[in-house]
Amino acid sequence: MSSFVTGQIIEARCSRCKDITGHVVMACLDGMPVKVECRACGSVHKYVAPEAQARPKVEKTVRVKAGHNRAEAVDATVRAEKRAAAPRPSREQQQLARRAEENEHRWTSLVAGRAATPVPYSMNGTFAVNTLVDHPVFGTGAVVELLPPDKMDVMFKEGVKRLRCVCE
Ligand SMILES: [Zn+2]
Repeated sequence: MSSFVTGQIIEARCSRCKDITGHVVMACLDGMPVKVECRACGSVHKYVAPEAQARPKVEKTVRVKAGHNRAEAVDATVRAEKRAAAPRPSREQQQLARRAEENEHRWTSLVAGRAATPVPYSMNGTFAVNTLVDHPVFGTGAVVELLPPDKMDVMFKEGVKRLRCVCE
């Protein structure tokens, strides 16, 4: 590993020039330049290695929110970065997508093609398993399970919703 000395002229990335320019090393720490002066524009700034473009983060800025300690804040930052750095859907997302697809298949087999006219959904209504209900938000669904005394699971296109009803 090469060592740098104060006064040395090196190439570094200049944030003002937005380019790699010659810089005079102003201060070093452990043989690494920490402060440099751009010979092109004269600005004095932190040293940024010329190859840093591919990995632009030399230093992490961590905002510590009230009520959070620094460790938690760093952790949150790292997690946020991981999320940002993963364009591929996670296994969790893939599972969700698969489940959504299965849901839709199940919904289609339960609801679509049924001749029955859906019954408008009402919290005070009484429904039987397999009844088609028409919900103002979720659309048409099929009752899959009654949960006495006052709930039922209804399969809608977007998934099973637990709704209020009157069970008999
Ligand atoms: Zn410059």
